[in-house]
Amino acid sequence: MITANLADALNKQMNNEFDAAQAYLAMAAYCENENYGGFANFYLQQVEEERFHAMKIYNYLNDRGIHAKITAISEPKIEFDSILHTFEYALEQEKSVTKNFYDLTDLAWQEKEHATISFLQWFLDEQVEEEATFDTHIEYLKRINEDKNALFVYEKELGQRVFTPEN
Ligand code: MG
Repeated sequence: MITANLADALNKQMNNEFDAAQAYLAMAAYCENENYGGFANFYLQQVEEERFHAMKIYNYLNDRGIHAKITAISEPKIEFDSILHTFEYALEQEKSVTKNFYDLTDLAWQEKEHATISFLQWFLDEQVEEEATFDTHIEYLKRINEDKNALFVYEKELGQRVFTPEN
């Protein structure tokens, strides 16, 4: 059985995922305004991914007979120093999301809520992917540095990204 405490924590994480979607939308808008449509597309796909995460928790709450309580979205950061800065900021955001899921999983273990422990496993795996993705982009962008031709090619590649949900 899911206690009120665990239900609140799951609700909070669902809303965190909606916050993350809004934060990525702000990054897309920054990139768009800097005329980097490929990077903007990358972040727009990330918005879809975060909404998918949020809805995964929303559906789980419903399945467990818990009222999914939607809260206000936090105001995102809208100004950045550079494209690289958006990726560095995103990585930090993902690291804090990883910590949230570790804490949530700890709580589920404390309450011996095995179905929730199993449910959260998907997110733990997903966070490894998310951190690796941003880490790689940061590494590439640093390598490209001021090489405009390389940046052009890299941006074009990210412009092709299409989010496909995995269950
Ligand atoms: Mg997420």
